[in-house]
Amino acid sequence: MATSTTAEPVALQYRFFAAQVVAVRTVGTSLVRVTLGGPDLAHFAGGGRDQSVSVFLPHPGQGEPVLPDEAEEDWFTAYRTMDPDVRAVMRSYTIREQRPGASEVDIDFVRHGGTGPATRWAGRTRPGDRVVLLGPAVHDNRSVCFRPPDDTDHVLLVADETALPAVGGILAWLPAGIRVRAFVEVPDPGDIQDLPTDAHAEVRWIVRGGTPAGSSLLADAVRAARLPAGTPYAWIAGESAMVRAVRRHLVTDRGLDRRRVTFSGYWRRGLSEEDVRSEALASAAA
Ligand SMILES: Cc1cc2nc3c(=O)[nH]c(=O)nc-3n(C[C@H](O)[C@H](O)[C@H](O)COP(=O)(O)OP(=O)(O)OC[C@H]3O[C@@H](n4cnc5c(N)ncnc54)[C@H](O)[C@@H]3O)c2cc1C
Repeated sequence: MATSTTAEPVALQYRFFAAQVVAVRTVGTSLVRVTLGGPDLAHFAGGGRDQSVSVFLPHPGQGEPVLPDEAEEDWFTAYRTMDPDVRAVMRSYTIREQRPGASEVDIDFVRHGGTGPATRWAGRTRPGDRVVLLGPAVHDNRSVCFRPPDDTDHVLLVADETALPAVGGILAWLPAGIRVRAFVEVPDPGDIQDLPTDAHAEVRWIVRGGTPAGSSLLADAVRAARLPAGTPYAWIAGESAMVRAVRRHLVTDRGLDRRRVTFSGYWRRGLSEEDVRSEALASAAA
């Protein structure tokens, strides 16, 4: 499992890509797969695994996402000063699959009700709709977080449905022979899907039904599991409270080396991504 070093300076790792919706199809009760294409994506240097991007979406009634001039040195500051009702909606998503030959990428959007602009967009989008991605200009970029150390002999994946696309990308990337235990929580039995892999993978699906997202279901399942002995690498992503609980269990109760645990809060109950970003910026400023 060769991992990489992200040697390129951060500013050079990313660029904007204009893209159009090519196809939309459901891939489960809660997920809709949006295929994006266009000539710009010929240069999209996805690193596979849990490669994430920022997706910029238009508001209803806009023909395309409204963004600051690309040439603007500090585009993010310029973006933040724009009217939130006009500037594009900015959200984080995972590249479920890239097909470089066709200049296409797939993104799986969770339909989590009418609460967020991205989920609403995914519910109404049609082929021809225009979006912009802030994505990788180099394969070795910091938005690939799944980086097992070379001596890893088994992998633990813990994810809710927002991180199911990343689990799919990770399993597709892992080599033959490596042992994987994956715990994936989904809202509905209709969200269970095939996850092709060469790895020796055992996927445990946890259907939460009426239990609210971000509960202790995943942490309880991991706590109750017999994990293989050896040299593990763990990757956890999904609702932030769940991620914290699972990480704490692995590091505190099971004694996993914290450097061998990658974790990422993909969303927080009760807060939009915009709220989470503002909170992070405020605490960085303080
Ligand atoms: C690196 C990374 C990769 C990600 N990859 C994916 C991906 O491939 N697919 C995917 O669907 N999501 C993914 N996410 C999560 C996604 O960015 C968030 O769910 C985002 O909040 C959705 O935006 P929104 O506009 O729909 O809702 P927001 O406007 O951000 O939030 C509105 C309300 O909805 C709630 N909410 C947000 N997401 C959910 C949810 N899934 N279930 C229930 N309530 C929710 C919020 O708590 C808030 O109360 C990823 C996040 C990160 C950081």
